[in-house]
Amino acid sequence: MSIRTDRSRQLLAESKRHLAGGVASTLRAAMKPTPLFAVSGSGPYVRDVDGNEYIDYLLAYGPLVLGHAHPSLAAAVGEALRRGVAFGLQHTGEIELARLINELLPCSERVALSGSGTEAVMLALRLARAYTGRSKIVRFHGHYHGWSDAIFTSFPSPDMKQAATVRAENVTPGTGGQSELGLQDIVLLPWNDSGALERTLREQKDAIAAVISEPIMCNNGCIPPKPGYLEKLRELTRELGIVMILDEVITGFRLGLGGAHGKLGVMPDLVTIGKALGGGAAISGVAGKAEMMALIESGEVAHLGTLNGNTAATSAALATLRELIKDGGSAFVRMERTADRLVEGIRSLLAKHRIPGLVNQAGPVFHMMFIREEKVEDFDAFNKRDAAKYARFAEAMLAEGVLIRPSGLWYVSAVHGEDETRATLAAIDRVLAGLHG
Ligand code: PLP
Repeated sequence: MSIRTDRSRQLLAESKRHLAGGVASTLRAAMKPTPLFAVSGSGPYVRDVDGNEYIDYLLAYGPLVLGHAHPSLAAAVGEALRRGVAFGLQHTGEIELARLINELLPCSERVALSGSGTEAVMLALRLARAYTGRSKIVRFHGHYHGWSDAIFTSFPSPDMKQAATVRAENVTPGTGGQSELGLQDIVLLPWNDSGALERTLREQKDAIAAVISEPIMCNNGCIPPKPGYLEKLRELTRELGIVMILDEVITGFRLGLGGAHGKLGVMPDLVTIGKALGGGAAISGVAGKAEMMALIESGEVAHLGTLNGNTAATSAALATLRELIKDGGSAFVRMERTADRLVEGIRSLLAKHRIPGLVNQAGPVFHMMFIREEKVEDFDAFNKRDAAKYARFAEAMLAEGVLIRPSGLWYVSAVHGEDETRATLAAIDRVLAGLHG
């Protein structure tokens, strides 16, 4: 089966004459058979310029927790635009949103609002450095924290054997044109290795300002922390006066109303949030301990941004959170149920077609991969997957009317239901039947 993509291809060629690279974010160029041009979306469906309609599990790389064009979100943003989109003054929507975030996230006493996850991470690192008077940041292999010069690192290719043992001296910029100076303060460790963590933190305790970690390694394999690992991280950072930052840009308001830290019961000093917070609007935040966030009020740490707290973004976030709160958070139950059915279905289809593969799931987010390993519990194991085969699978799924990321990460929204699950599993069945090699 194939789909028409003529119009998307024409538009990409035209776009390249005007927009650098033809796409607005580098990752989007990787889509096969071609980057698609969208026309509209509604609920779990998205339509492109060639008239194709897809069940959408890309969900704009995560934010669309309520699906496309949710009526409450559309009404709230429309109203905000009519009232005035930005003032450069304060407005009560900011207070309402910050109050709600403080109520919902267990670790949150104060919130600072920005526009993207990348900015939120930059601010969290800055707060940690100012708070401790130290400069080094420990981060983990396979985690992603945005693309700022401060933290964007490349990882060795899958054929590099020592992926799990890379140390600080191997930290290399994630892109051309990136300053290497900032990265001199980055200590890169394997994740889920308590021994390596403890050794490094104890050895360099006087230099380390913060440890930043995704609570679940969603970006590469949806790998959960080993039992006791995050607790150990909490214990060590508390003992050594190091700031613990959980990057919840994916997991915040996705795994539950209290984020991953609420679900896992580990209390970080700071969290970064974004994506699902705005339901698709450009908004992010840092939330956490009042004594650290107070550095913003005292002026010691600058927190800037012309459009921070604009009414369209804050209204979108308020509308999203209010939908998520309804009926005791039933949206999360729905999302998880849908994801459970999909994951169970995918596992049995892999078995039916005798294709080695597995799915790692974190609530409504899961990572499907073709791999011979029985378990994927670290970045090293994850790198053994057949990424090329999965990309072929994703392309074939598109022809079946299902949009998924070529990397393997799936997101489910609160409006994906039984019909979409059934159609998706039927499509997977057909695609796996024809997937050779
Ligand atoms: N942190 C995590 C865990 C992410 O997954 C991402 C984006 O995917 C970011 C930070 C950066 O967020 P943004 O793309 O909004 O800058």
